[in-house]
Amino acid sequence: MQLYNSYSQKIEELKPIEEGKVSMYVCGPTVYNYPHIGNVRPIIVFDTLKKALEAQGFDVMYVSNYTDVDDKIINTAIEQNTTEKEITKKYIEAYDQTRADLNADMPDVAPKVTETMDEIIAFIAQLIEEGAAYEIDGDVYYRVSSNTKYGELSHQKIEDLLVGARIDENDKKEDPLDFTLWKKTDKGIQWDSPWSKGRPGWHTECVVMINDVFNRSLIDIHGGGLDLKFPHHENEIAQNESLHHTHLANMWVYNGMINIDGIKMSKSLGNVWWAKDLIALYGGNVIRWVMISTQYRAPLNLNEKAFESAKKELQKITNAYKQANILLQVNGVSSTQEIDHPLWDAFIDALNDDLNTPNAITTVLECVKKINQAQRQKPLDCDQLTKYVATLEAMMRVLGIRLNRIVMDEEEKKLYNDWKEAVKEKNYEKADQYRACLIEKGIL
Ligand SMILES: [Zn+2]
Repeated sequence: MQLYNSYSQKIEELKPIEEGKVSMYVCGPTVYNYPHIGNVRPIIVFDTLKKALEAQGFDVMYVSNYTDVDDKIINTAIEQNTTEKEITKKYIEAYDQTRADLNADMPDVAPKVTETMDEIIAFIAQLIEEGAAYEIDGDVYYRVSSNTKYGELSHQKIEDLLVGARIDENDKKEDPLDFTLWKKTDKGIQWDSPWSKGRPGWHTECVVMINDVFNRSLIDIHGGGLDLKFPHHENEIAQNESLHHTHLANMWVYNGMINIDGIKMSKSLGNVWWAKDLIALYGGNVIRWVMISTQYRAPLNLNEKAFESAKKELQKITNAYKQANILLQVNGVSSTQEIDHPLWDAFIDALNDDLNTPNAITTVLECVKKINQAQRQKPLDCDQLTKYVATLEAMMRVLGIRLNRIVMDEEEKKLYNDWKEAVKEKNYEKADQYRACLIEKGIL
């Protein structure tokens, strides 16, 4: 598997730290609202990457957190006159439902900030001990000047960063670039710490959850949306460098952003598309197909047309699959695990080329073409058709697309054969009756 590594700014071969095993962490959502289509992209991209790796025999440990401590959660709880716990419970459930609707695997571990608090406080204390952090009036800041590697992920120079940082200068900090590890507060949910009653900073939470869940300071893949690279991931790396002297992940992989009809999605513009609405309208398959029709790194422009054309393309695939299955069943052929190797290899090669899902889709369509050709072939080569069908099933499993397999009973098989016979005999009146029955049963 070759992936674009933002850290080295190169396409690199994935070389797992432990042979045959891949450790992958993807920054999860702050749970104060329903997931929107922008949250869906990383879910689908990294789930597809996981499935592509698993299809080649890798054992993937996939971890994605829930940020369940945040000002936005506290404000939402106050607005709705309820507790933070109630808010986060509701939206974690909504996220889990969205994942299920999109046929995305649940993470192997989904850590929560509230359940990692002791480790977070211990981590901050260690950074202070190392001289990489300092406390002022109950707040704790990371000391950027203690880390000569700062900017290593986003490839920015400290001097350039300072120009931007000076604008919102906080005179408590030693340096405008220093970021918050612990914030003293009397608003909302708080924890006791050696410095004050307060809450941790977001950048610390993720790095501690990675160290804690994987029980290591270097993993194979760290993923997320491109907007997380700076400052979030730069700051995750900085803290890890200070304590563990590694850059946290060998590969830093980012999905591109989503635009709605060419415009950045935002609440203030009123163009937020909620995942649950799109799922109700189009179903999980169509949404997945739209997302994988563009390579994960490219910006993705969405509009109604994109969903409609994905729907049509998927219909062609599912129709071919359905008709081939019927044909095989009436011919008494059972399914096989055996696949067509040239087609499958081309599919995997496309995915291994920096997860090039558009090229993988091309091989899927090639497989569908072969299925359609094989169905028309006389005499019918059942072995070949079965192989193509099994190949399509395997490809769609990796892409996370659900295929509905029709299982016909004897009566239905007889009806189908009677229909074909009536057509052959040019008894159109009878053929139409059979056909209507088959349509009613959902077979045609
Ligand atoms: Zn994160």
